[in-house]
Amino acid sequence: MIDNTKSHYEVIVIGAGVAGIYQIKLLADLGVDATVLDAAGDLGGTWYRNRYPGARFDSESYTYGYSFSKELLNEWHWKERFSSQPENLRYLNTVADKFDLRKYMQFNCKVEAAHFDEANDLWHLKIADGRELTSRFVVMAVGLLSIPTPPRLKGMEKFKGHSFHTFYWPQEPVEMAGKKVAVIGTGATGIQVIAEIADKVGDLTVFQRRPNWSAPLNNGPISDADMADIRSRYDEIFATCARTPGGFEHEPDRRGFYEVTREERVALWDRLYDSPGFAIWLRNFREIFTDEKANAEFSEYIADRIRRRVKDQAVAEKLIPRDHGFGVQRVPMETRYFEVYNRDNVHLVDISETPIVEVTETGLRTTERDYDFDIIVYATGFDAITGAFDRIDIQGVGGAKLRDNWNDGPSTFLGMLVHGFPNFLMPSGPQSGSASTNYPRGIETGVNWCTKLLEYMWEHGYTRAEPRLEAQQQWADHVKQMYSAMLMRKAKSWFTGYNSNVPGHEHGKIRYFVYNGGTPKYVGQINEVAANRYEGIVFTSGSTPVHRQDRETSSIAEKIPR
Ligand code: NAP
Repeated sequence: MIDNTKSHYEVIVIGAGVAGIYQIKLLADLGVDATVLDAAGDLGGTWYRNRYPGARFDSESYTYGYSFSKELLNEWHWKERFSSQPENLRYLNTVADKFDLRKYMQFNCKVEAAHFDEANDLWHLKIADGRELTSRFVVMAVGLLSIPTPPRLKGMEKFKGHSFHTFYWPQEPVEMAGKKVAVIGTGATGIQVIAEIADKVGDLTVFQRRPNWSAPLNNGPISDADMADIRSRYDEIFATCARTPGGFEHEPDRRGFYEVTREERVALWDRLYDSPGFAIWLRNFREIFTDEKANAEFSEYIADRIRRRVKDQAVAEKLIPRDHGFGVQRVPMETRYFEVYNRDNVHLVDISETPIVEVTETGLRTTERDYDFDIIVYATGFDAITGAFDRIDIQGVGGAKLRDNWNDGPSTFLGMLVHGFPNFLMPSGPQSGSASTNYPRGIETGVNWCTKLLEYMWEHGYTRAEPRLEAQQQWADHVKQMYSAMLMRKAKSWFTGYNSNVPGHEHGKIRYFVYNGGTPKYVGQINEVAANRYEGIVFTSGSTPVHRQDRETSSIAEKIPR
């Protein structure tokens, strides 16, 4: 049982989601005195929160699970190629129970502030329940998409029916049969929820401001025999994920877009459209990410697919994006999404033409008319990447606020450390490799790297680590440069920091949020830093700068703070 009166830990991990669970597993293996704090009522992070109907992986389930334990890999049976939220939450609970990790976790524990105490190389944390905790290190496992952003609509509090953001979909069943339901937003979440509930509600009205490109998920069950085969190939599967840019099994088609004929291109696209998961995006020609003409030709191919699936061509045209090409925003995968609009009980309202003016007691008012609803679902996205950091009062050296430093966008060293914020680790931070790739694969890399850094410090007796400003600037420049070739740099998407519901994040200012160089390049660079005795990081011991080579080392086992 967790001791609630204990006030100091060597490491405090904030967040008990996919990253926090793995981080505490490694710390527990080392015997480090550590705890995990999470504001939610239980573990699971994104899979604890997002309980909306249709929530599931777009990653192949067996590439999403942890790779660290052969025993776990052999025991767990993924039931579907793209597993759904309840199953994913069960998986994370199974992992926590199997490795007895719950005893390190504290729930309903919202961290409000984290201030660095320079004299003692300690973080002071303020918890919403009134407690104050200290730790040598803070590990931020706070999630990339964990701060939901409802729209800023007039009158939202007036609505007498049931309304919620998808992130807060109620845990108890929501009665939808016969109900008039509105969904606002057509990102990855909206597309999943709309397709899932269309035939379960009385009437569904979708309020779409900008359509997204989307393609079939092509999900299917995983039989015992399939699972046995997957188990026998896990080493190969993870090795493939490690060498592909996105950390998936999908490898790009390395033929040049213009080296093959139009017929060959279409033949590939026909195959990919019927293939599972992100194949359509990530097994495609590389030029679709960088070349306007190639991207436009492929986008037109997908537009035709939409026209073939939607009966009313006026509706089909509304569902085809005009302001961006396929794949320059995160591609939502769908299951019979477009066919939903062939149903008599589903209506599409294009709010780029008739914007929502306000929420009324009984529904929504657009510039055109009033609509009555029983339920309004806000599928309006997240204050991505830096949102969870901004919600905590994080103060580093000299009382500098992280929120202020990142006002125009984050600046980090390797996406895992920040100058001026010593002993502050972000295994899947802004500008790290996990944000733009198969998330858990990136997380394992980040958590492993951060844990090795901690071991290095314990081994050498260092009490403080902080990246040099120049090293951080170099990383920030490199991250920015990785955007320069990509069409996505122009997109209104969370990859570029766009969110119309967050002041200052409206379109117009690019924030360099993710690392676009791909998994192998990212891993190569962070490993090189580690191999060069953490070049770019200044280590200190008891407030005295120590040259890296000067310190004596002895068995780490004796030095772990337990
Ligand atoms: P999102 O992609 O940011 O989409 C939000 C949607 O809401 C957009 O269509 C947006 O329109 C609309 N919207 C926002 N504010 C609005 C307003 N005030 N009025 C009208 N419409 C408004 O958010 P998301 O769908 O939650 O997805 C976020 C990310 O979560 C995804 O990209 C993905 O990485 C992750 N995700 C993953 C999965 C999965 O793995 N299967 C599932 C769901 C989500 P505009 O574009 O016009 O702003």
